[in-house]
Amino acid sequence: MAEVVSRQEDTMLGHPKGLFVLFFTELWERFSYYGMRAILVLYLTQATTDAVNPGLGWTSKEALALYGWYGLFVYFTGIFGGAIADNWLGQKKSVLVGGIFIVAGQFALAVESMTAFYAGLFLLVCGVGLLKPNISTMVGSLYKKGDARRDSGFTIFYIGINIGAVLAPLIVGYFGEVVDWHLGFSLAGFGMILGQLVYVFGRKHLVGVGDLLKHSAEHAHLMKQPLTKIERDRMAVMFISFLIVMVFWAAYEQAGGLMNLYARDKIDRVVFGFEIPTSFFQSLHALYVVILGAPMAYFWVRWRKKGKESSSLFKMGVGSIIMSLGFVALMGAAYDVSVSALDKAPVYWLFLSYLLHVVAELSLSPVALSFITKLAPMKYASLMMGTYFAVTGLGNKAAGLLGEAAQDAGEMAIFTGIALTSLLLGVLILLFVKKLKALTHGAEEVDVD
Ligand code: GLN
Repeated sequence: MAEVVSRQEDTMLGHPKGLFVLFFTELWERFSYYGMRAILVLYLTQATTDAVNPGLGWTSKEALALYGWYGLFVYFTGIFGGAIADNWLGQKKSVLVGGIFIVAGQFALAVESMTAFYAGLFLLVCGVGLLKPNISTMVGSLYKKGDARRDSGFTIFYIGINIGAVLAPLIVGYFGEVVDWHLGFSLAGFGMILGQLVYVFGRKHLVGVGDLLKHSAEHAHLMKQPLTKIERDRMAVMFISFLIVMVFWAAYEQAGGLMNLYARDKIDRVVFGFEIPTSFFQSLHALYVVILGAPMAYFWVRWRKKGKESSSLFKMGVGSIIMSLGFVALMGAAYDVSVSALDKAPVYWLFLSYLLHVVAELSLSPVALSFITKLAPMKYASLMMGTYFAVTGLGNKAAGLLGEAAQDAGEMAIFTGIALTSLLLGVLILLFVKKLKALTHGAEEVDVD
């Protein structure tokens, strides 16, 4: 414990310095992830005969199918990554090994061969599964139980993620698409190398964080104990929060699919005489997160200090309702197109919708990460985080299926369905927030500051 206290005294911007090591490591990991993702489908569908930058010549349907499965697996393997960390490597080493897999994977994609291509995807799936949940759990381990800075620490970490996500499509996307796909994948690999360097050289700020305790007698004892009633209750609440998370990502991830096509075909993107390219809207989420992350975190801190309800479940319920409003904005666009019989809907609907999605995301996603680190029994800390990411992977896949369904049912029906589901879930959580909170047995109580 003395070690924890001394580590926490080593601060920057009021947070443990280790937070910034994890911040930059994850920033570059996400740069690599989103960079590769930005060009994957484009590379797959580009004609093999293209004179400048030939691709693999797949059909859109084939490419989107691979994209969907990749999105599912890359997060689903988080369960294995978590289990490996809990039982074998500890989180700190898992992040390092995961990073090595990612570097290898990106450079494999840079090689022009189908075997290397599939090997690369496999390495990325393993690498992200090992790195992503475990680096998130490590953020939680920087803070003692009851430390009021934990939620804002996760928001800062989340801003890092999104700085990587804003830069990636611009850099990897540009060089990959315009110059050479393989150069793009290599740049994603170099990004991850930078992340690894930050991590290795910053390890002195992570002493005692993310180590495997397995070999100590105390840990062996802990691992054998059945879960207590309190721990079981907390697991139950976590699984309820996973339901919100899944619905949330199924809605949010419409961005890359249905909303992307909708923006291309049904939105008037001309502003002051310029036509905004459809792909621009793909960076909008991350950009909004970087801009709104700090003010939102500040808002919730103020809110809590005023003594108002500020449990994670409350924020997640609010997030779900705001998400619903984001789809009401899209219903506005669909209404303009169908009922008002405009040829194309005004672009403000899209900006507004993305804005609401991000306000919802910031009320829900970093909050959920933080919540898990407060609630998970120690022996399942990484596994629960891995399960969280697996659930987000399922949400991604569900998003793809909803997008497909819209091809028959029409956009208005799908937008309305998502709006109603998110609203209902959010309202239910708010109605039962007291009961659900009781099941956390004070896990969220913060020390007075
Ligand atoms: N956009 C966030 C990230 O890349 C959340 C992803 C997720 O939870 N599936 O970390």
